[in-house]
Amino acid sequence: MATLFISDLHIDAGRPQILDQFLRFLQGEARDAEALYILGDLFESWIGDDAPDAAQSAAIAGLRTLTLSGVPCFVMHGNRDFLLSSRFCDMSGAEILPDPLIVTLYGEAVLVMHGDALCTDDRAYQRLRATVRDAAWQQQFLALSVQARRALAGAARAGSQAHTAAMEYAITDVNAESVAMALRAAATSTLLHGHTHRPAIHALQVDGRPRTRIVLGDWYDQGSVLRWDQAGPELKSLQRA
Ligand code: MN
Repeated sequence: MATLFISDLHIDAGRPQILDQFLRFLQGEARDAEALYILGDLFESWIGDDAPDAAQSAAIAGLRTLTLSGVPCFVMHGNRDFLLSSRFCDMSGAEILPDPLIVTLYGEAVLVMHGDALCTDDRAYQRLRATVRDAAWQQQFLALSVQARRALAGAARAGSQAHTAAMEYAITDVNAESVAMALRAAATSTLLHGHTHRPAIHALQVDGRPRTRIVLGDWYDQGSVLRWDQAGPELKSLQRA
């Protein structure tokens, strides 16, 4: 049995091939998993639990079938779907996880994050993150009409794409000192995250100790999954039929 980690699917009505691959993954490899962890940005955007569109509803139905079959599913907020809440959990059978979180995998404690909090060189993004994670801001946003929320989310997405395109590649990656601080605070050897869409297994040193940083990939052109079993972690890409 293995524990599976995925992130950054960015499921959206405009990208049906991602949804199709996700549903196949849920009906295939995920059915045999000990647990499935989705480490943020399952959805391209999420304007509230009261307004899933058809693509989002199909993904939720797929998750529901998986959790009903007995595979526990855990979802962490990403920077796109940080408004996922209790109704989403009721619909999908998934549980929302705090970020950061330490998960013990086959005897090894692993620090798990979405990853956006580590991108501290991007100050403008960190200011935005602090705003939208504020409970009062979220309440105000959720009180708007679905139409108004959709319009704002669309503008935010366009703004985010323009911002990322304008920033240097290194600025939108994780900051080495933030990674070191997170590993130090968690006292783990391994950090696992998504968000940057730069799948890799990095070896590094913090305080003279060897550590590992595992980065999940996005699902834009193929799937990306980290399979962790007794033998350890394996980062795979899933070819799209
Ligand atoms: Mn993200």
